[in-house]
Amino acid sequence: MKRQCIKIPKKKGESARRVLLDFEILDNSVKIGSDETFLYLPLSREPLSHELADLPEEAELAEFDFEPQERKPTHGDLLGFNPAYELIGDIALLEDPDLDSQKALKIAAALLRTQPNIKTVVKPLTPVIGEFRIREFEVIAGERRTETVHREYGCRYKVDLSRAYFTPRLSTERSRILSRVQEGDTVVDMFAGVGPYSILLAKSKKPSKVIAIDKNPDAVHYLKENISLNSVKNIEAIEGDAREEAKRFAGTADHVIMNLPHSAHEFLDSAVLLTKPGGVIYYYGITPEADLFESSVGFIRKAAENAGRKIEILEKRVVRSYAPYQYNICIEARVI
Ligand code: SAM
Repeated sequence: MKRQCIKIPKKKGESARRVLLDFEILDNSVKIGSDETFLYLPLSREPLSHELADLPEEAELAEFDFEPQERKPTHGDLLGFNPAYELIGDIALLEDPDLDSQKALKIAAALLRTQPNIKTVVKPLTPVIGEFRIREFEVIAGERRTETVHREYGCRYKVDLSRAYFTPRLSTERSRILSRVQEGDTVVDMFAGVGPYSILLAKSKKPSKVIAIDKNPDAVHYLKENISLNSVKNIEAIEGDAREEAKRFAGTADHVIMNLPHSAHEFLDSAVLLTKPGGVIYYYGITPEADLFESSVGFIRKAAENAGRKIEILEKRVVRSYAPYQYNICIEARVI
């Protein structure tokens, strides 16, 4: 089976393999290929530019016809069904809220047995709640902790899931915002959490500055740790209320990220205040199927008009389904 891969001289193969493992882009479903001179390391996705830059300089992108790996039994084989779970770092989070404890234990045992990368299995006891958007968890099996390090697009995020918000489900969305940011831009991440937007943008695109704000002291504790973990310098981490902090940075932002979907509309005046003329607001909302964008566009337009400004809608999209008939949406609006 043909796959995109990294072609590398054999003597540099091990260091290249380690880089791909570190970025979690080595495809384990096929065997590593070789010929007399080169190793061919299969890729699970297209590498980003900073990931390629970390490989030995002899590495090149190529294609190779790989042999499949022999298949080991999966947790699905052991259980007879495939349980829904989300993997955050080395913690598997069981997603079915109605799971009884016996079934949860069985699933946890199967996951720990078949997936060496999973060290802890947890079950949420509450939905994502409150101003800080956090959940309580019960550890079902494995190491008794809710702190982990999650890797995404070559960045590492340390987070205690019971103290700060994090979801890997927005990874595609984060890479989309990355594609909008140019070198030299200033970004304000109004609801930064532990930093998955801010750190990716600062690390990959080298904007002149990222201002990352969050009100949850625990989120900001991890945000600061993640800034060091990822060796990024061009971020200012601020513990505070986005509404108050916006006054200090008025008129400075080329991009304003508003990832607080249940109540972002309450902060639109501050987002408008932050944007330079021509700057873009990335507004996230949770909206019903019958009114995916219209009311939200109205809120953004109203906030701009209140400040004597106008908007131009650049894009409207559904990010993911959130609940029956409810969607997580994003609107990109230029503020003129
Ligand atoms: N952007 C992060 C991410 O993708 O993981 C976090 C998003 S989470 C949905 C929203 C965050 O907004 C939480 O970390 C919460 O603590 C923070 N927050 C809530 N109200 C806030 C406010 N008034 N000012 C600043 N941050 C706030």
